[in-house]
Amino acid sequence: DLYGADRANARGVEFGDRAALDALLAEVRQGGSARFTAAPVIDGRPQAGAERSVVSPIDSATTVGEVIEATPELAASAMRAALAGFAAWRSTPAASRAAALRRAADLLEERRGRFLHLLQAEGGKTLDDAMAEVREAVDFCRYYAAEGSRLFGTGATMPGPTGETNMLRLRGRGVFVAISPWNFPLAIFLGQVSAALMAGNVVVAKPAEQTPLIAAQAVGLLHEAGVPVSALHILPGDGRIGAALVAHPAVGGVVFTGSTEVARQINRALAAKDGPIVPLIAETGGINAMIVDATALPEQVIDDVITSAFRSAGQRCSALRLLCVQEDVADRMIEMIAGAARDLSLGDPRTISTHIGPVIDWEAKSRLDRHIARMKREAVTRYAGEIPPSLLEREASLYVAPHIFELPGSESLAEEVFGPILHVARFRADGLDQVLSAIEGTGYGLTLGVHSRIDATVERIESRLPVGNVYVNRNMIGAVVGVQPFGGSGLSGTGPKAGGPHYLQRFATEQTVTINT
Ligand code: GLU
Repeated sequence: DLYGADRANARGVEFGDRAALDALLAEVRQGGSARFTAAPVIDGRPQAGAERSVVSPIDSATTVGEVIEATPELAASAMRAALAGFAAWRSTPAASRAAALRRAADLLEERRGRFLHLLQAEGGKTLDDAMAEVREAVDFCRYYAAEGSRLFGTGATMPGPTGETNMLRLRGRGVFVAISPWNFPLAIFLGQVSAALMAGNVVVAKPAEQTPLIAAQAVGLLHEAGVPVSALHILPGDGRIGAALVAHPAVGGVVFTGSTEVARQINRALAAKDGPIVPLIAETGGINAMIVDATALPEQVIDDVITSAFRSAGQRCSALRLLCVQEDVADRMIEMIAGAARDLSLGDPRTISTHIGPVIDWEAKSRLDRHIARMKREAVTRYAGEIPPSLLEREASLYVAPHIFELPGSESLAEEVFGPILHVARFRADGLDQVLSAIEGTGYGLTLGVHSRIDATVERIESRLPVGNVYVNRNMIGAVVGVQPFGGSGLSGTGPKAGGPHYLQRFATEQTVTINT
């Protein structure tokens, strides 16, 4: 099994256990029997409009459901409705807000079949990726519920002169706009929304245009779990809806995961808008590197490179893009990695043995195809996977085969390539500083892998590079909520880290109350 122990790890089902697997697959099939729709929902009322079919990335002949997209006018009414709902939600005790999130987590586990179905049909995910994502979504709800109960309860008593009491309390900021990506359409969507709600904000959520159906299900579940309809509104739509929302004077904060370019646009819009001065919490991309020196354990490196570069078809912002290998071991390592890549199976992600499913849409597919064509001219092709003929025959097939390209040096990769493409560069034993400068020079700082058995090398690398998540002698994806707080710096985002102890504070304002007793 190429993804190794990871498959069985904390996924709830041991993949060797046939009966448990059959039961799970039956749950997923059952979950797909419903009719899925998404619409703008304001104050609990679905809004009318033109319907569009949501087509599966697995196969363009499969319609997953229907979506009604929002208009800029609806964006304005959602903001008004949210603002009107703020007073009630702000004064709801933190314990009740946390109870709603915990109930949502329970419901999510109970109904996981439906979410697993949508993660596959709408998001194109393999079953193990879908399982991990439901787990992460549940973890976000429970973790923020626990953290929020601690932080937003009675507040902290501050020391002061006798005769006065001083209390520091956190309170919601107002209307939070949550703009989420298609690559974690459940976990990141719910992570943003549950954090904003827990901190006492009302939310207008704008899910990725590729994945509105699963977001609509998640919102329905939060409402059912006890989040008032006046505190959570959803607007499916494209970037124009996001732009209308962030320019609205009532915005009290924005939480965004997506590209660096869109994060910049949001920053500009927030600077120009009327109303309060508000924060942006942005989590963007990265040109993530892994550094492998001559002391690394080859078998471990191969496993970790395959998982980091190719799992989820490379469509994670944490994924490995640039492998930097010490010259002395480079040829052997690259050959072994190419050998392992050969064993990856590309195809329908609902087939249990599939490692790599489709990419999300036609735009992603053509961008990746263009990059592969350019690399074939400009770099050395170390491995070029092939697309099985059965997939090529499909109309508008969105499959991209894994590729490995060797570049002349670590400074040669200038952009994030969001797919199953690994770039490799070799460095001389005395050339580590140059590699570190090249990585630093990208301006990004999300994830970094290091494979070395020399403690001093590991320390030198982690202290020099301002990256958010450093993984030593393991793979570099799949940060666990509450265990590996996730997020980067520089071009990769503003912080704070999702799933970490400082996240909720950024969604809140602080209030000091001093009482003369
Ligand atoms: N948190 C995910 C991971 O650690 C990546 C999130 C993303 O791709 O946006 O792999």
